Amino acid sequence: MHTTRGAVLEALERDEFYLVYQPIVELATRRTVGLEALVRWLHPSDGELSPATFIEQFERNGAITDLGAWVTRRAMAEASEWHRAARAKDRELYLSVNVSGFELQQLTYSPALVSMCNDFEHRCQDLRVEIIESEFDLGGPDVRANLATLRKEEVRVVIDDFGTGASTVDRLLEISADAIKLDASLIADLEDNSERFASIAAVVAAGDLAGVEVVAEGIERESQHDLLLRAGCRFGQGYLFSRPVRAENVPTILDV
Ligand code: C2E
Ligand code: MG
Ligand code: MG
Repeated sequence: MHTTRGAVLEALERDEFYLVYQPIVELATRRTVGLEALVRWLHPSDGELSPATFIEQFERNGAITDLGAWVTRRAMAEASEWHRAARAKDRELYLSVNVSGFELQQLTYSPALVSMCNDFEHRCQDLRVEIIESEFDLGGPDVRANLATLRKEEVRVVIDDFGTGASTVDRLLEISADAIKLDASLIADLEDNSERFASIAAVVAAGDLAGVEVVAEGIERESQHDLLLRAGCRFGQGYLFSRPVRAENVPTILDV
């Protein structure tokens, strides 16, 4: 597939993109504490496209900035009712959006994000931005400025797909993030790999010390859930709890 930024802008105009939401749960209670927004493209000729097929190309043609802003706005608009319901019951509920390293290199990214929060009356503390570990390392001055603004405004910073690079406990201690998401590949073979169990337990312990929350991704089986609880991991996400669902079905998984 080849797409230009102009074609993406037209697709946005035609409302071809939509969001699905996957709950992040507290493992011990299975209660939803957050929702991750994941984008889908209902392409007129190619059908439903997963982000894996187009995000990279949008990073190359610049359309990722347009898509990222659209995702955040749409997610905040759709989530406002869920947040009201959660607050009325004194329940925690955050919204998590994925951000590309390309967006973080734009100096305007964080100020625009904060002003979207204001527009939608979305509390900054209830917003998380997920950044893939390798992109967090881009580390240029603009990325640093954006991260500093996010931190000042109390938008939570999450390292996505943690553990796919050369990450260790040291790495967790040196990065300044509010949370990390353990990549699904680490969870996939948890049952047959005792070294894996030990290394996850070590990361969780380090996270506790450093005040970094640990979320396990890609949990599909009860046996993984049990092992993660034993490793001290408090939060998780995966098909075991729920597949990503469309906005109209979110209330059924929220129990607020
Ligand atoms: P991610 O942020 O790590 O999201 C997790 C992916 O794993 C999602 O795929 C989700 O549907 C899938 N998943 C969740 N639970 C399970 C499970 O138990 N088993 C398995 N096998 N998979 C599970 P999805 O929605 O296709 O998204 C793929 C990636 O595309 C995301 O990975 C994220 O990096 C990127 N992405 C998605 N939406 C956006 C967006 O709005 N902006 C940007 N920049 N990237 C996005
Ligand atoms: Mg993510
Ligand atoms: Mg991930």
